[in-house]
Amino acid sequence: MQEFGGTVAAMPSSIDRTTTWPFENAVPAEFSYARDAHPTGVEAEEALGALDGGRALLFPSGMGAVTNVLLTLLRPGAAVAVAEGSYYGTSLLCRRLEQWGVRLLEFDQTGPPPPDADLIWLEAPSNPLLTMPDFEAAVAHPAPVVCDATVASPVFVRPLELGCDVALHSATKVLSGHDDTLAGSVCVRDDGLFTRLREMRGLTGIVASADTAWLLLRGLKTLHVRIERQTGTARTLAERLGAHPSVAKVRYPGFSYLLSFELHGEEAALSVERSLRTIMNATSLGGTVSKLEGRHRREGDRCPPGLLRLSVGLEDVDVLWADLEQALAHA
Ligand SMILES: *Cc1c(COP(=O)(O)O)cnc(C)c1O
Repeated sequence: MQEFGGTVAAMPSSIDRTTTWPFENAVPAEFSYARDAHPTGVEAEEALGALDGGRALLFPSGMGAVTNVLLTLLRPGAAVAVAEGSYYGTSLLCRRLEQWGVRLLEFDQTGPPPPDADLIWLEAPSNPLLTMPDFEAAVAHPAPVVCDATVASPVFVRPLELGCDVALHSATKVLSGHDDTLAGSVCVRDDGLFTRLREMRGLTGIVASADTAWLLLRGLKTLHVRIERQTGTARTLAERLGAHPSVAKVRYPGFSYLLSFELHGEEAALSVERSLRTIMNATSLGGTVSKLEGRHRREGDRCPPGLLRLSVGLEDVDVLWADLEQALAHA
């Protein structure tokens, strides 16, 4: 884990929305057709690669990145071991892929993955239960290891340095950071794997636009200052929530901008959602505006009924606390 610091992406000079470029002496040049690569996308990939310490590929959403990795690494009969309590969309997609002969195994990522896994899928930390994986146990397994580090961001967790094969992010969240673009990122070190992933991306057409790449580059310029401030506020709110009589449990891994807390039952959680004034009652995370959401309505039994997920934004800590306190009075 690395505390704040690191590089700040340079300002892109322009958005190049071109989709086709002239051949040079009848030979396709570096850029020939935008589904394979385009200059603004490559600039974003260089910035993402520097953050994660590998070679990055940009996607039009986090789920686009997940799909591309699964299609590249799975085959009929293969078992994918997904961390329990991790991003709901990933396990729903894996369930959908069962019709192609893929097997989904859910496992507790704080321990070793199931021995018969052909692909291991970690989340650092898991969203919304906020457990951290046992990286050593996962990378000791012979199967390739993917780590979705959306919630940590490369500021705190760099999965490739911990021995994982693939680092994945929903760049819609803190990497872009302003709730104005959907994007995804996949980063690897192995050149063969990079080529397979890039070919699959070109074949499936899961390709981000130049505008997406530009918005991501703009967001990355302030990543470190945003996450430093959001983390400081999240730590304070986690402490204060932990001391509040209506709060049964706080889940916060000690870093980054996302925390979950549990109230006594779904009704109490719904009352808090309805009573918020400053914090937005909405889904998603990592943006400048704080957002709170009960996840039970979407995820059902896999999520405690009284669990509320709070994504801390850039507002003043005391303003956020005042809003939580007045909303908790209705719990
Ligand atoms: C949001 C999210 C995704 C999916 O990303 P989209 O950009 O919404 O497609 C995947 N993993 C995690 C951990 C997420 O929070």
